[in-house]
Amino acid sequence: MLEVRDVKKYFGGIKALDGTSLTLGANELKCIIGPNGCGKSTLFNVITGALPPTSGQIIFKGQNITAWPPHKISRLGFGRKFQVPSIFNDITVAENIEIAAMALATRQRLRKTLGHKLDPAVFDKHLGDFGLTAFRNSVAGELPHGLKQRLEILLLILSEASVILLDEPTAGMSQAETLETAELICHIQTKFMTSVLVIEHDMHFVRALKCPLIVMMKGTVVREGVYETIKEDSEIKKAYLGEIAC
Ligand code: ADP
Ligand code: MG
Repeated sequence: MLEVRDVKKYFGGIKALDGTSLTLGANELKCIIGPNGCGKSTLFNVITGALPPTSGQIIFKGQNITAWPPHKISRLGFGRKFQVPSIFNDITVAENIEIAAMALATRQRLRKTLGHKLDPAVFDKHLGDFGLTAFRNSVAGELPHGLKQRLEILLLILSEASVILLDEPTAGMSQAETLETAELICHIQTKFMTSVLVIEHDMHFVRALKCPLIVMMKGTVVREGVYETIKEDSEIKKAYLGEIAC
């Protein structure tokens, strides 16, 4: 599905990415961890075309998409979630969902169906799955932070993204919200058959995801494995896990 091949990204003398390689299969969930400044967000910037790499390649479904413009990469089915939720704050939850459904219809050149509405049963199911039923008519900008993040993830799903990139999706969440979000991400990946790459710091969240972890340090991938193995790796413990309670 997605392959990052020996990608380097230098900012002057700073080697933000220094030969990063990884793969993400169809309907696969992987989590990238690593200390601050090791290049995680830069990697997402290079994958999504926000930044061209200094060298290396990004391959998507066998096609070399390295340094394509972001709008072209997004059209291939990449959905990216930033740390600050990008939802429409001034309208309701229901209206946010309607707009995402319309945007997809437009993108599929079904312009005639601009009034395109989601099937009401599907609409209600989405609200239920994402814990938003009670907030249907709430103004999105007034939702608690955790629910804003959920709404944004739902909007990505509605855009029919086939690869979802989540950069620290639990930033600013309580521990309960964090664990709920982990469940939600596992649910998305199985139910909507999407591939998900998530960057995360919170080790409770990482453990709850129960997925392969990719450990980055100084711009490269140093380990890949399940939480239980990574947690016991003395080198990683020393360099990273020791910094935060886990
Ligand atoms: P992480 O997300 O792992 O915390 P980043 O990818 O944000 O790390 O940053 C990796 C390194 O690259 C850091 O040293 C950061 O200061 C640097 N960096 C990131 N983006 C830029 C940029 N646009 N210009 C210059 N330096 C940058
Ligand atoms: Mg970052």
